[in-house]
Amino acid sequence: MITIQNNDGERRILLLDSPFALDESPDFPEYLFDVVFIANESVEEAKTILSSINPVTSTKCCYKPLFVSSSLKGKMGPYDEIIDGYADNWNDMDVMTQIENIIGYNTLIGLNAQEDPILSSNQFFIRLTRFLISRKKTILEPKLEVTASTGYVIPVFELFYRMGLYELSDYFVFMQSMTEKGLFRATKFVNKVYLCPTCLHSHILYIRSCPKCGQSSIQTEEVIHHFRCANATPEHTYNFGGQLRCPKCHKILRHIGMDYDRPAIIHTCNTCGNTFIEPKIKTVCTCCHSTHDADELIPQDFNVYEITSEGKQSIISPNIGFTIYTEFYDNYIEYNRFVNRIRLLAEQKFSGNIKGDLLVGKMWIINEEGETMPIRPEVIELACMYFPSNKVSAANNITYIGSIIRNYTGDTEEGIINFEVMLSETIRAAVKALQPGEKICHTYMKLGGNQSTINDFLKEMNFISVTPDDSVGYDPSANKNDEPA
Ligand SMILES: [Zn+2]
Ligand SMILES: [Zn+2]
Ligand SMILES: [Zn+2]
Repeated sequence: MITIQNNDGERRILLLDSPFALDESPDFPEYLFDVVFIANESVEEAKTILSSINPVTSTKCCYKPLFVSSSLKGKMGPYDEIIDGYADNWNDMDVMTQIENIIGYNTLIGLNAQEDPILSSNQFFIRLTRFLISRKKTILEPKLEVTASTGYVIPVFELFYRMGLYELSDYFVFMQSMTEKGLFRATKFVNKVYLCPTCLHSHILYIRSCPKCGQSSIQTEEVIHHFRCANATPEHTYNFGGQLRCPKCHKILRHIGMDYDRPAIIHTCNTCGNTFIEPKIKTVCTCCHSTHDADELIPQDFNVYEITSEGKQSIISPNIGFTIYTEFYDNYIEYNRFVNRIRLLAEQKFSGNIKGDLLVGKMWIINEEGETMPIRPEVIELACMYFPSNKVSAANNITYIGSIIRNYTGDTEEGIINFEVMLSETIRAAVKALQPGEKICHTYMKLGGNQSTINDFLKEMNFISVTPDDSVGYDPSANKNDEPA
């Protein structure tokens, strides 16, 4: 059952008691309700409902107050982090106050628009940090958890990691980048942890092994040093029928410290017979099963972070999606810089310093009416990924890729074809970012003419082409939540 009812404060409560594909349903648009109540007494079912209906990843419930049946209080584990309260009556004074506080604060900071489906790790991190700001939880404190991916985890992040919303490598890049930008601030060092280089998980077994053959079946014993004859060999060589006797001079050893001592520990390999003082420490990752030498592990500092006041403003700003790309991808540059660069390259080409062709690829999305749509961060992200050695920029509802096709023999045809093929692959990968009725197109411009035509070329960059070289339409089977890449 799913209904919408008013509380005494005239807030519209979406009430549901079983799993429901809310985001996909046309029947309950985002603007029809202010608060979500999940009335289900089963912990497992409530968790299932929360995996899609929650104030972070749901497009319709984003940032909205969310309550769960009071009988589940204390039983929801990490899901607690995304639940505002446990209640059965939405006219309860405390519940009403809480609802007003959250909605009031969200309105104040401007977090009340419907959000898009999440297509990338970065989009998810922005959504989650926006949610945390909305709930005034601006201290991100790692906690030690036995089953957690990296040992120390921020519980609300880990909850979504398990739902497959992001990759650990993206997480560390995100935290570092936010800190470098001053949007997060490390307030306290917690610990330095060594992570698996393959999967970045922390649950690693440390194995002492033979430095010669690498096997771990080794015996460890003490070395006995006989002062009188200076013999120093493993303890078992001194054992003669339960007596401690020197294998070299055959005297009986009596008093440790007087006639002998135990100066070292020695290891003997059961596989190859090698004896050694320092075993090699190898590691086995319990998550991905890969083995590494201990010195190959990735050191990672864990800190308590605080979202700074500058961070709060930037993260809430609708433009955060774009500014973040300049941090994440070395090849993304602001449009002014991109244009200047193209101008410079064009001048170099006409003065003969660059042999080859200068191309600018353009990608854009149009709707059914043929209007261009605002730039989607995921299209920029794909362009940065598919063209790692090219400069990427975005403006005028167009995503740009600059390229010099160099060939000293003057034949650039193959390079141009490859560039076109990559553009076609990129728009195919970007289909998942499309809404029904939309299509994504590309074309490319090639600089021709002479010095006097540079300005015309730069002006033409501002406009899409009426006849794209290639386009792909919306595809309902391009699963939007399939790849949190
Ligand atoms: Zn001896
Ligand atoms: Zn060995
Ligand atoms: Zn691993």
